[in-house]
Amino acid sequence: MAKLYDHYKPVPELAEDPGHKKKKPKLIATVDEDNCTGCQVCVPFCPVDCIGSVLYEKYNIPIPPVQVRFDECIGCQICARVCNKLTWDAIRMIPTEEFEETYGITIF
Ligand code: SF4
Ligand code: SF4
Repeated sequence: MAKLYDHYKPVPELAEDPGHKKKKPKLIATVDEDNCTGCQVCVPFCPVDCIGSVLYEKYNIPIPPVQVRFDECIGCQICARVCNKLTWDAIRMIPTEEFEETYGITIF
């Protein structure tokens, strides 16, 4: 007789505050929108789901490029590797300090 397994364990408890990064990332992903085809291959690879299309109105083209919500990016570099290997190499990882200086933004 086949052994019965109990696959339905209790769900893990949710983190109290899941939306914040533990530490400031060393790098931030930035998309070169002129080089991005908007193929979205990188999107499902982002572990924190912070890549999305730019607003349609910005370029008024059927498939707009993507952008990274920099305040959510954890600097893991996965998107840059995916874009480099599979598509157009349109993502650059920029040192966070340089990013902050360039855009006048403080990353937390
Ligand atoms: S994989 Fe590269 S080209 Fe495709 S949407 Fe992402 S950044 Fe743009
Ligand atoms: S570096 Fe990592 S966290 Fe940041 S956008 Fe790319 S895949 Fe997402």
